Amino acid sequence: MVRESVVLRLFRKILIVWCAIVSLGAGAFGGPAPAFADVLRVGRPLCYAVSRTVAKDGGSPLVFLCAGQPEGYQKGTLWFRAMLPLGADRRDDLSLIVHSSRFDRLLVTFSYADRAVERQDVRSGDFGTHWRAGGQLAFRAPHRDVPLTGVTIRFDKVASAHLLRMRLVGRGEESTQTAGLAALIGAALVLLLAGAIYNASLALALRRQFSAWQAAWAICMVAWGACWSQLHLLFLPAMAGAVSAQICTFLSCLAIPLATLSAITALEERYVSRWLRRATLWLTAGVFVLGIPLSLMRSGPIDTLGGVLSVVVLANLVAVAFCIGQAWRRGSSDARSYAGAWAVPMLVLASTSFFDADAMFWGGGSQILVLFAAAWQTLWLSAAASRSHGRLRAERDMARRAEGQAQELARRDALTGLLNRRGFIERIGTVLDTSRDRGEAVALLLIDVDWFKSINDAYGHEAGDVVLAAIARCIAHHECPSCIVARLGGEEFAVMVAGLDGAELMRFAEGLRQQVRDCEHGDLIDNRNVTVSIGIAETITGADFRALYRLADEALYEAKRNGRDRVVIRPPDAANPCTDDLDQVAVGL
Ligand code: GH3
Ligand code: MG
Ligand code: MG
Repeated sequence: MVRESVVLRLFRKILIVWCAIVSLGAGAFGGPAPAFADVLRVGRPLCYAVSRTVAKDGGSPLVFLCAGQPEGYQKGTLWFRAMLPLGADRRDDLSLIVHSSRFDRLLVTFSYADRAVERQDVRSGDFGTHWRAGGQLAFRAPHRDVPLTGVTIRFDKVASAHLLRMRLVGRGEESTQTAGLAALIGAALVLLLAGAIYNASLALALRRQFSAWQAAWAICMVAWGACWSQLHLLFLPAMAGAVSAQICTFLSCLAIPLATLSAITALEERYVSRWLRRATLWLTAGVFVLGIPLSLMRSGPIDTLGGVLSVVVLANLVAVAFCIGQAWRRGSSDARSYAGAWAVPMLVLASTSFFDADAMFWGGGSQILVLFAAAWQTLWLSAAASRSHGRLRAERDMARRAEGQAQELARRDALTGLLNRRGFIERIGTVLDTSRDRGEAVALLLIDVDWFKSINDAYGHEAGDVVLAAIARCIAHHECPSCIVARLGGEEFAVMVAGLDGAELMRFAEGLRQQVRDCEHGDLIDNRNVTVSIGIAETITGADFRALYRLADEALYEAKRNGRDRVVIRPPDAANPCTDDLDQVAVGL
């Protein structure tokens, strides 16, 4: 119940935004229709005539039909004629806008009241100055003192009369609309391109299949948008016409499988049943397969094939919606992000089937809606991907911190907090290397608590622990980058100090011994003094840890033998060079 209400709330929000966009589009971009700013259709006020072969220039049919639909024109010529009522506003200031480019040639003839005519034509591969952003061709009726009475539009080898969209608008409006449409298209393409680059970099950085499909889809939509809007003619004017229209068909049939694959790969396999996934993939393959002949065809059953394709596309979109719905119901969080992204293109396609968007959005019609829906989807998914990426990064950082803490703990002694044997061996490696490079003296001090067993025996193991911790604090006081302190085990501590030798080193060790001796343990052990014996091995000829350890141990033994609570130092020349490395020492320790 909770999930359903979330879905409903989300869809209601999207629907409200969508209605606002559509009414804005209808109001602001569709504009109040002037006398002739109207979509031309057969009977309203278009009449048509057909020749089954391409007609000669200048030859105009005698009979025009104003009802029914034209047929048999694909290999011949199709004429449309619109008679303009005398006395209509701005009849001498009109532009004819044609939204179609799948033809060999288009000839527009403006007729005036004095029987004079003005002709303008474009051909596939050469649209001259007539092309406009938004896949439009504009033909301006030249201004004359006599009224304009009619427009005849002749297409040679046009692919489909059903796909033709023609409008008559005031000339001023035509400029405003095409400039506005170019800005809209530019904005949508920039958004899509940004989404494509972002998703491509996510795909590379995170090696996520979904982001790669999403980037491929966004790139495909950018290519489609550039091609449909004819902005590519700025650089490639020879591509004007049928070739671009065919490329557009192919790209739109490629975009749907790419979008579907991005949706399918975004949802984890366990959330979508296998048969539903398979059915969706089959449908999307169907879209692609149908798109190939449709983009290659110049004539033939284009309308029928187009109709079949629309049904398969719709089924494909519904199947993806089902996949998302199922994944959502089964608890996929990715499905929620995807639902918002997928809902908008679905609403666009559905709404363009229910109302006529051809004259809306400055003539951009349903295509501009699709372009913005695609930009919305890319941005939505990019935001969702960023959110999940951010979440993953935070989780990874936490895991790394936890791992670092665990590693640090593994190198620390639990009772005293000092480095343990393992941590000590790892850390002294760097001290030894630096002092070797600098030619500095290095000394190892082994510190053993005297008669510690008797403390345990007299006051208990716990009291012994407290004493050990107090001694550790006392020694740890000296810890610094050139002085590493550790508890090697039991009541034995070690100090590796660099940069001290001779009398200085002896003073340091004596100070340490004295500090431990002066450390007060109070009633816990009846104010007894605890002493330590220290054995030192010193070297100035480059560090050899194993030899140092052996000598320090010997010195410590001597200190014990000579009565304890004292420091014994082994001079540098006593250290025999040895080639064993630290790993062996670790084992030896
Ligand atoms: P010496 O002066 O010769 O070093 O005498 P000692 O008693 O200190 O040496 P010995 O090796 O005989 O005894 C060490 C004692 O330290 C034995 C053991 O119970 C005690 N010990 C080792 N680790 C711990 C610890 O973590 N806590 C406590 N409380 N005692 C420990
Ligand atoms: Mg000992
Ligand atoms: Mg001892």
